[in-house]
Amino acid sequence: MNVAQCPFCPQKIHERIEPIHFETAHWRVTNNRTRYENAKTHLLLLPKDHIIKFLWSQKTLGLWSEFYMRVMPFVQANWPQGTLLMRLGGFETTGSTVEHLHIHWIVPKPGQTAYAHMGPRKWKSDEWKDLKKA
Ligand SMILES: [Zn+2]
Repeated sequence: MNVAQCPFCPQKIHERIEPIHFETAHWRVTNNRTRYENAKTHLLLLPKDHIIKFLWSQKTLGLWSEFYMRVMPFVQANWPQGTLLMRLGGFETTGSTVEHLHIHWIVPKPGQTAYAHMGPRKWKSDEWKDLKKA
């Protein structure tokens, strides 16, 4: 998937119907399109750049500094407890639907266990159709 088609990159991000809860120079915080099973809250923490590899550079220093200094304080102020799940790579191996680096913040429903898949997954036909549009 190239940058022009990537649903998390600037060219497509505004097509999402999910609200942007918070935005910084490097990050956006929005809802995941579909909540994982038993998730009360399911956020996506999205770098604005199309990052598909971990690389150390001056640019990523700013990215991760902002993540710790601004994004996580915002998330924890509004949803104090949850689970971070970072995805990087294609769905054939990771179960991710978008290869652009993205981080999930998942808060389970009270008394429930939320479930996230990791690894290749089988798609319901409707789910796959929706992803192809994205
Ligand atoms: Zn992207």
